Amino acid sequence: MKVELQNLTKIFPSRNKKSGEEVIAVNNFTFTIPDGKLIGLLGPSGCGKSTTLYMISGLQKPSGGKIFFGDDDVTELAAENRGVGLVFQNYALYPHMTVKQNILFPLQNLKGADKLSKDEMLDRAYNAAKLVQIDELMDRKPSELSGGQQQRVAIARALVKMPKVLLLDEPLSNLDARLRLQTREEIRRIQKETGITTIFVTHDQEEAMSISDMIVVMKLGVVQQIGKPQEVYDDPTNLFVAKFLGTPPINVFEGEVKGEKLYIGDAAVLDVAGVDDQPVTVGIRPEGFVLDPDGPLTCNLNSVEVMGRDVSVVSTHAASVNPTVRSIIDADNQVATGATVRYSLKPHKVFLFSKADESRIYFGVKSDG
Ligand code: ADP
Ligand code: MG
Repeated sequence: MKVELQNLTKIFPSRNKKSGEEVIAVNNFTFTIPDGKLIGLLGPSGCGKSTTLYMISGLQKPSGGKIFFGDDDVTELAAENRGVGLVFQNYALYPHMTVKQNILFPLQNLKGADKLSKDEMLDRAYNAAKLVQIDELMDRKPSELSGGQQQRVAIARALVKMPKVLLLDEPLSNLDARLRLQTREEIRRIQKETGITTIFVTHDQEEAMSISDMIVVMKLGVVQQIGKPQEVYDDPTNLFVAKFLGTPPINVFEGEVKGEKLYIGDAAVLDVAGVDDQPVTVGIRPEGFVLDPDGPLTCNLNSVEVMGRDVSVVSTHAASVNPTVRSIIDADNQVATGATVRYSLKPHKVFLFSKADESRIYFGVKSDG
């Protein structure tokens, strides 16, 4: 099921009568989610992810804009008639019911044409349980399950109604790191097997990048960029997106463009054809540094961390915005051990941003962008 958002907006009135400041939780969100895809909705806490999800589910009413499922306008449709499955961060299972009863529960209130026989209900419940691999646990109570298993029950309960759209709001936040990794792969598998259009909300960029067909990056209610994870990582539209994606995070420097050359400190570190003279903010991905004894960028070496396949070189530079500069170098390379380390830069891993509004300034081949 294709899901289309048209100028979707949610404004919450002020809770503080004196200040009168309303909150624009979601601001003019327009996007068509293709049928059968998994979309990662990503951004820091408070950026409007949950509000977007609740409007799609029908739990919250938009202040403006429209929502379509396929060709149907569902903006005014009640939540229970939208055919969405919703999974929250806290699994919210019924503690006094078994796993089986929890999964069956949404089916027992179906009415009219949707009403199912007892056997049909059991069939559906077992199929959903198999899909999330908890069919062996059907007679347990939630308290007898691990966090990961409880979240699987919650997902099975969302799937059992065969929803047209699956909405997951930070579903892995309560799990420990290992389970989080495992469960996110499970969610990806289930999504592929069922082909259900899925929106996965998270503040964890790595989580979103690893399982999404496309990601939507939000900030303060406003969509910043939409694209395939790798494309957004490789071609961020502004400083916020560049900083939000990537581990270790992008290195940020104060720089200046003079005569189509980028200066960091006194050193001309890169040719930046087509850019007017101006001070800029420079982002350099950790993998954008090349060890080079004659390289133009000289940093003060702090330490070298060996991480198996790669080494991470930690250094400092007077023009760095962050306390340290972190580069990722192939472990095959000999890392200098002196007081300084010198780099040349991979041009496609270096991004320039406007001092005025933090938007991207393209150079070289993309100077017309
Ligand atoms: P996220 O899920 O990305 O953390 P939310 O969608 O929950 O963000 O919230 C977006 C913004 O809307 C926040 O500033 C939040 O404080 C505000 N907000 C959310 N729900 C309400 C509400 N019921 N009343 C007033 N403000 C709200
Ligand atoms: Mg939220």
